[in-house]
Amino acid sequence: MYILIIAGPPGSGKSTQAALLNQRFGFVHISTGEILRKEIEAGSELGQLAELLIGGGNFVPDDIACKMIINVIENYNNTTKFVFDGFPRTLSQCVEFRNILDSQNLKVDAFIDLDVEDEILVQRLLKRSASGARKDDSDISVIKHRFELYKNCTLPVTEFYVSHGNYFKTNGSLEIDQVFGNICSLLPPNTIN
Ligand code: ADP
Repeated sequence: MYILIIAGPPGSGKSTQAALLNQRFGFVHISTGEILRKEIEAGSELGQLAELLIGGGNFVPDDIACKMIINVIENYNNTTKFVFDGFPRTLSQCVEFRNILDSQNLKVDAFIDLDVEDEILVQRLLKRSASGARKDDSDISVIKHRFELYKNCTLPVTEFYVSHGNYFKTNGSLEIDQVFGNICSLLPPNTIN
């Protein structure tokens, strides 16, 4: 199994790059945000909770996010290549993720951080909201709140991987294909063939 985390603030392009890794190299793309949006569409109990929280730019509780991840990992085998997008999002999810992986003799193989300036992020999110796909992108106060949460709750996750190794930072403000090329250059050749 190969475990890659693509990280970065809202709008940094995590899901775009993870989708490319899926299409071109067969990575299994796990987006906790996408799983939650599907639950919202389905109108499940989790979906109803997620709708309230996501609409306000807040996170779902850590235990819920971790359970979603346990469910997905259990359904794959040891040749699977995973790209996680939007998880772990808090230090507590990060510690729990390490425990989950430890218990199966697995580890995070690479953590790639997409670096993009705040100004560009806001422009991208507002542009994405114009397509009407995501309510949490259309309100500037919700966007600002998500940035705050990113800085307060998610940056500690980045610091964790900086100090535990396998950390890479790449410029996420370049063209999509350039960013993708740079990501691929950070991955072991046997994962991108
Ligand atoms: P973005 O990175 O642009 O915020 P995502 O699709 O990753 O978009 O996430 C959308 C929303 O889903 C988040 O703002 C949060 O409310 C919720 N969410 C996604 N992943 C998690 C997680 N691991 N823990 C808690 N909440 C999450």
